[in-house]
Amino acid sequence: MSKDKKMVREITPQQEDFSRWYIDVIKKADLMDYSPVRGCIVFKPEGFEIWEMMQKELDSKFKETGHRNAYFPLFIPESFFQKEKEHVEGFNPELPWVTEAAGEQLEERLAIRPTSETMIGHMYSKWIQSYRDLPVLINQWANVVRWEKRTLPFLRTSEFLWQEGHTAHETEEEARAETMQMLDIYREFVEDFLSIPVIVGQKTPSEKFAGAIDTFSIEAMMKDGKAVQAGTSHYLGTNFSKAFDIQYLDRDNKQQYAYTTSWGVSTRLIGAMIMVHGDDKGLVVPPKVAPTQVIIIPIGPASKREEVTNKSMELMNGLKQSGVRVRMDTRTDQSPGWKFNEYEMRGVPIRIELGPRDMEKGQVVLVSRISGEKKFVPQDQLNEEVSKMLDEIQKQMYDNAKSFMNSHFNSVETIDEMKAIMEKQRGFVLAGWCGSEVCEHQVKEETGATSRNIPTVVTEHKGKCLVCEEPAKHTVVFGKSY
Ligand code: AMP
Repeated sequence: MSKDKKMVREITPQQEDFSRWYIDVIKKADLMDYSPVRGCIVFKPEGFEIWEMMQKELDSKFKETGHRNAYFPLFIPESFFQKEKEHVEGFNPELPWVTEAAGEQLEERLAIRPTSETMIGHMYSKWIQSYRDLPVLINQWANVVRWEKRTLPFLRTSEFLWQEGHTAHETEEEARAETMQMLDIYREFVEDFLSIPVIVGQKTPSEKFAGAIDTFSIEAMMKDGKAVQAGTSHYLGTNFSKAFDIQYLDRDNKQQYAYTTSWGVSTRLIGAMIMVHGDDKGLVVPPKVAPTQVIIIPIGPASKREEVTNKSMELMNGLKQSGVRVRMDTRTDQSPGWKFNEYEMRGVPIRIELGPRDMEKGQVVLVSRISGEKKFVPQDQLNEEVSKMLDEIQKQMYDNAKSFMNSHFNSVETIDEMKAIMEKQRGFVLAGWCGSEVCEHQVKEETGATSRNIPTVVTEHKGKCLVCEEPAKHTVVFGKSY
């Protein structure tokens, strides 16, 4: 058997090697495969369906807040990148170029988009003439390419899938409000839908998006204590409208530059969800995002098979009608025990077992993926019980992740204290920072942690910078990140 074809038989325990565990789980659950191109993965149906669930929910939140979808080209002329200095400096090292097509050298190199501010800026300058054309509220679902040096499936790939929102407004106030509105939509989505608690805040200048005035992020903590930037929202001011000449006639008939924003989340969220909730048995998928919320497994001897299968089918149809995403596994070449392990490994939130004895008693057995708890439920109450249990699991997953984050969150006064924490426990550290890049850089050099963000809600204000001990301008969350 070739190495590629060899199935992952065992999942490495998280405590033994978290990175190994992650790779074992995503392979065994069949979410992705490596492609022949470095850093690019194939999203297999099991993984892609999770992304589709996320897309559906986010898309409806974007539309509820007045945004519409559109699509812009994959290729961006090189000259567009030269128009915004910071933007080109930030993205140049990661850009792949098309220099030749149909056997001919192109007159101008074309970048494969790493993000679309430039292309969209160019188009908005044509579309926006007057204040009546504003606001423009557009979102795009697309793939982008950033030639990353370090890659990890889902979390950091060279090609990834995402949505990018791009809006243009009359005033700074409106654009800032939009930036914060989208950040809050991300927070709500990640916390409520993915059951992942996040720290909401502003990036330090050295960590902000290339070309932005201000970048805001939501940061999540994985089970190994490392951070993942789960979403970003940028206030771009008039940087891109000056570069691309997005001007409009205002209400007093004067030319003004529009204020723009951009915001995005990517397939990185799949990786974050796995690393926050997974355990030694495999994936644990929050009910709201699970493509299969309930798996029904009929049990019993061949003589009773038809009867049990018919009843299972009836129960499945009832659940479907009440809006539950449910499937049934009637295969006869695998034992019930094998199936139990299989769906636990795939992270299906609820398993329903139905055997001849349950038939006699008019009941079914519900088993929760997160607690392993078994519940015997009368068949005529199945729909209500399932919906109750799904809600409980969703909430319990958030509470578990939140208490993990709280127990790996430390507050420090000095860089030495921080070093000690990073060496033994990892997690997030709250500390004062004077605002200088030199001090921020020293933290990274000495501890391996970077500033995650300046939390919007600070529970504890720090008086001094952890490095130079000058008065702190900000209280910052630091952490090692993916
Ligand atoms: P940005 O445009 O850099 O603000 O990124 C937008 C979103 O994409 C953020 O949620 C990032 O965390 C995510 N992201 C950035 N780079 C990658 C990558 N290489 N793979 C997957 N997601 C990424």
